[in-house]
Amino acid sequence: MREFVLERAGDTVEALRRAAARTPEDGNMQYLAGGTNLLDLMKLDVMRPNRLVDIAPLAVEHGRVRKLEDGLWLGAAVKMSQAADDPDVQSDYPVIAQSLTQAASAQLRNMATLGGNVLQRTRCNYFRDTSWGACNKREPGTGCAAMDGCNRRLAVLGVSDQCIANYPGDFAQALIALGAEVNVFGTDGRDRTFAFETLHRLPGDTPHIETTLEPGDLITGFKIPAGPWTRRSRYVKVRDRTSYDFALASAAVALALDGDRVVSARIALGGLASVPWRAHAAEDALEGRVLSEANAQGAAAAALEGAVAHGDNAFKVELGGRTLVRALVETRDMEIMP
Ligand SMILES: Cc1cc2nc3c(=O)[nH]c(=O)nc-3n(C[C@H](O)[C@H](O)[C@H](O)COP(=O)(O)OP(=O)(O)OC[C@H]3O[C@@H](n4cnc5c(N)ncnc54)[C@H](O)[C@@H]3O)c2cc1C
Ligand code: SF4
Repeated sequence: MREFVLERAGDTVEALRRAAARTPEDGNMQYLAGGTNLLDLMKLDVMRPNRLVDIAPLAVEHGRVRKLEDGLWLGAAVKMSQAADDPDVQSDYPVIAQSLTQAASAQLRNMATLGGNVLQRTRCNYFRDTSWGACNKREPGTGCAAMDGCNRRLAVLGVSDQCIANYPGDFAQALIALGAEVNVFGTDGRDRTFAFETLHRLPGDTPHIETTLEPGDLITGFKIPAGPWTRRSRYVKVRDRTSYDFALASAAVALALDGDRVVSARIALGGLASVPWRAHAAEDALEGRVLSEANAQGAAAAALEGAVAHGDNAFKVELGGRTLVRALVETRDMEIMP
């Protein structure tokens, strides 16, 4: 690991002040939350910040789950396990609790924060192993070793000819399915709230730029609006082994139904795409229709239309469709307590 300076911020104002770059060298700063992704990548020499600003003390301000009159607030410093175990989250937003309990391990969930979770980086082996020279995400302009290499776990949706890495997290799909917003403070002290769906960027020609955040931006939390679909919501994750593994394919689904007819369908896919993926085409295919298995299959076909496979990961097109069908049917059949 390379040398770095570790600073501790007592509160949000101090974190933003410390994050503001004073010299060009200062610019290579990262916030340190649970450290479960950042420290891994520093040890692997993939991320090389020269300054870490420890934001653990910000849990006092941003470490709470709060039920609001018009929805739910999840602070960015909330631990994954804390949100997953919250009774209101479990009863009224089950897709969130399920996405978190099916992620990582109990130890990691006790350590990792929601803010860090949404910003975790791809598990593409070539990205994480610096002995591979060609990785446009790690070193722009060097190429992509995964294109013709081992890409079984990588993306089939939202890929470019520069990068086919997949977004590995689970919780982000739940946020997208529920139409969440994210609140961010900039180093100028101003805050802004925007659709979480717009936080992650498609790789295009610049796969190294993964989000719409500016340097030093601090995520403070996520607002999930109330809606008739939040209780009828579910996360289905398919992986090589049933615990402690990343998704090969996953689907977060939230439905408002009138009998078996879909009033509103909200769908996000994971494991399959370069970013947490909102499946608008599948939603459109279902709205106003009876949620039969045949219609679920039609929606799945719409969701995967345009998928681009690269050899080893071709199976994901079929798997992604089947995962979504299963998630839709299971969400339809959920028993909702009054
Ligand atoms: C073995 C293993 C298995 C895993 N399996 C899964 C899995 O199945 N599903 C899953 O979803 N995840 C999985 N993870 C990933 C894990 O959930 C993430 O590492 C964790 O959520 C990151 O949170 P953290 O608080 O530790 O973030 P950190 O590692 O501290 O930070 C990650 C990044 O986010 C930035 N950051 C953190 N907080 C903020 C903030 N508030 N504002 C702005 N920037 C911020 C940091 O600067 C850093 O760049 C796994 C991890 C490991 C090691
Ligand atoms: S898929 Fe993306 S992250 Fe993986 S080697 Fe190619 S450029 Fe790098």
